[in-house]
Amino acid sequence: MKWKPVLLSLAVMVTLTACAEKASNDGEMKNNHVQTTVKESKYPGLEIETEVGEYKAYKYAIHFPRTKQSNINSAIKSFVNDQKEAFIQEAKSAIPNNKNDSALLLDYDISHSSKQLLSVVFTSHIDVPGKTGSDRIYTLNFDRQTEKLITIQSLLNDDSSLQRISSIAQYNILKNSTFMKRTNPGLVMEGTKAEMANYGTFGFSDHSMDIYFLKDQLGPAYKLQIALDDLRGIVKDSYMETLKQVITNDTELLSATTGRKNGEKPFPLVPGQKYVALTFDDGPHHQWTPYILDTLKRHKAKATFFVLGNRVEYYPAIVKREFDEGHEIGSHSWSHPKLTNLSRQELVKQINQTAASIAKITGQTPAALRPPYGAFNHEVQQMANAPIVNWSVDTLDWKSHNQTAIKNIVLNRTHNGSIVLMHDIHEASALALDSILTELAKRGYHFVTVSQLLQLQGNPGNYVGSAFYNGKSF
Ligand code: ZN
Repeated sequence: MKWKPVLLSLAVMVTLTACAEKASNDGEMKNNHVQTTVKESKYPGLEIETEVGEYKAYKYAIHFPRTKQSNINSAIKSFVNDQKEAFIQEAKSAIPNNKNDSALLLDYDISHSSKQLLSVVFTSHIDVPGKTGSDRIYTLNFDRQTEKLITIQSLLNDDSSLQRISSIAQYNILKNSTFMKRTNPGLVMEGTKAEMANYGTFGFSDHSMDIYFLKDQLGPAYKLQIALDDLRGIVKDSYMETLKQVITNDTELLSATTGRKNGEKPFPLVPGQKYVALTFDDGPHHQWTPYILDTLKRHKAKATFFVLGNRVEYYPAIVKREFDEGHEIGSHSWSHPKLTNLSRQELVKQINQTAASIAKITGQTPAALRPPYGAFNHEVQQMANAPIVNWSVDTLDWKSHNQTAIKNIVLNRTHNGSIVLMHDIHEASALALDSILTELAKRGYHFVTVSQLLQLQGNPGNYVGSAFYNGKSF
């Protein structure tokens, strides 16, 4: 990933929030939150925009870049809207299922940004009830001088260029024995033929051209990287020049590791006392996570944040604050897929990439894994490198968006050793927290991290791969 959290500029951050509650004609719309976060990125002149929509039967979270060039912005926006509309159509035609809503997560990575060229790689993950989750890569490449999309045709030097790329692809893929075990040479030869359609999904990294072969094109999905030096004579000279001139804004680095402040070390728990672990999933959120941190601080309470790797990338300063203030950082995967639906390779990526992005900020790998939707199997346990921690009290905050309902669930169902599930991306959860802490403290509860809770029974290090719903192992 080029989109490193350490490289995010933290100096300038303007947040615009537009939150609209609408009642629709067909009663379908529950509430519609449109949040626009404008934030400087590693690349000067590029900002990040996020749109989250939550409806009765489906929800989506879309991240996309915004440049200072309006034609590029409208092309990106139109791509994003097409994805959203297609998903909504699919979600509407899905068989209703009470357990899982349809969900779209569209995220992106700026894989290359230079004076003339901008490469955006989108990853889309769609869950629809009754179907297996689908992942797809899309790429958009722009010529910044003309503000136009670059096609593979417009990039190549002459008629022989595609044939040369095809030969490079075949040579590299066929000798990749790990990949070839999962497919067959016939399919690879067919999917890498020198036809434009086979090379439509491509982008650039700082030192390579990246060709994305989609799932089923060669067998499993495959990303081929061709070094820039090997592209000489294949890609037009004007692009070759610009490819070497990446513009980044590396001066403002977030320090790679950070120590916890004195006095913020976890305190030892005493058997016989009452403890509860509050947990917050799906963040960090630019507005509600800091609000929650302020509230926790006032009550001298510790909690656990199960963060999404792709959001850590956007909000490293919030993760650092969570950690510095003595809270625990757990992993909630990279992009919120159902881990039990993934190939082993995808699973490892979801876990390891998130662990790496957290460790870059805290110096520690995540203390626990909370799989999205609580879904895990033996393979997830094996790969987790940490205990799996689910919950025993579900506030259903994502569904109710109601402060009182959230508070009542917590107060009625919390027992000694409970693990409470909330989400730090919702306003109602953030606003309910103060009275939850006040009330539970009155009842004698101490607020601890999940690792502290597990420590009551022994060393959490021994629990790697074990699964928990409260202070007891399953
Ligand atoms: Zn979640």
